[in-house]
Amino acid sequence: MLQQTQVKTVIPYFEVFLHNLPTLKSLSQSNETKVLKLWEGLGYYRRAKNLLATSKILVNKFSSKLPKNLIDIKKLPGIGDYTGNALLAFIHDYPTIAIDGNVKRVFSRILNKNENKIDFKKLIENNKKNLFKTKRNSDFVEALMEFGALICRPKEPKCYNCNIKNMCKYFKSDKKIKQDKTFKVKEKNYNIFCYIDKTKKKIALTKKHNLGFLDKFYLPPIKESRSNKKIKNWNFHSNFKNSISNKKLNINLYYKCSLKIPPQHKWFSLKKNNEFIPSFTKKIFKQISRINK
Ligand code: SF4
Repeated sequence: MLQQTQVKTVIPYFEVFLHNLPTLKSLSQSNETKVLKLWEGLGYYRRAKNLLATSKILVNKFSSKLPKNLIDIKKLPGIGDYTGNALLAFIHDYPTIAIDGNVKRVFSRILNKNENKIDFKKLIENNKKNLFKTKRNSDFVEALMEFGALICRPKEPKCYNCNIKNMCKYFKSDKKIKQDKTFKVKEKNYNIFCYIDKTKKKIALTKKHNLGFLDKFYLPPIKESRSNKKIKNWNFHSNFKNSISNKKLNINLYYKCSLKIPPQHKWFSLKKNNEFIPSFTKKIFKQISRINK
C-alpha cells in the first residue's frame, strides 16, 4: 500500500484491510473482487492484484514463508529490486538496503556528489561492512529511510541537528551540490466517449480499452489524442484534469445517448454496482450524472 502512497493516506485502508483479511492464509483464500473492494479509493490497483497473487504463491509454494533470496523474491508479482531488498531487510533482517529517493539523497549529500554520478548498488556493496556494523539490520535500513525523510530532507536539511555532520561533505563544502531534480510529468490528452442510456441512467463500460496503466479495469472507451480538437458526432460534455498512476491526464469528456453499444462493452448503473469500479471511472459517473438532472 505504501508504494507511491503516503503513510497517512494508507493507515485507514490498512486497518480495514487487516480487519477483513488478518492473515496471509485468509488473503490467499480471498478473491479479486473482495480485495479490490477493500482497496477501493487507494488507487494503483495493480498493487492489490499483485498482493493477492503473491499471497497465493507464498501459501501454495513456499509454506507461507517469504523466500530468503532476492532472485526468488523478485519472481513474486510486482516485486522488484526496491521492494525485494526492503523485504529481505525488514522480514529476514538481512543487511540489504532498499534504495529509494531518501537513501539516494543521504548518500549523495554525504559524498557531496550528484545522484546521477553515483552507482548506489556498487557503493552499498563495497561499503557493506562499514554500513552494517549493527546486528539490527532491519532497524538500520528503516532508520536510514527515516533519516532521509526527516533530517536530511529534500529541502532545508537539518544539518545543525545532524549526528553525522562531521563526516558529511555537503555540510562542510562551500560548493554544495544541488539535488533539485523536480521531475515534471508530461500531461497527455485523452478523449473519453460515454454511451449513456438516459432513461435507465446507465453508462457503457469496457475492460478492452488499451490503456495500459488501467489495464483490466472498467472504463468508458478512452483514446489518447494528439490534439484538443472537438470530435464530430459526439456531444462535448466537459474538460477536466486527473492524475492516475503517475500520469497526468487532460481529459475531454464526450457523450452520446444511444442504446447500441460497441462489442465488449456492458451497461453499468450510474448509481450502484456490485462490481468493482475504479475511482477514476466513478469521477466520470459523477460528471455524466449531471446530464440526467
Ligand atoms: S549534515 Fe546535513 S546534508 Fe549532511 S547528512 Fe546531515 S542533514 Fe544531510
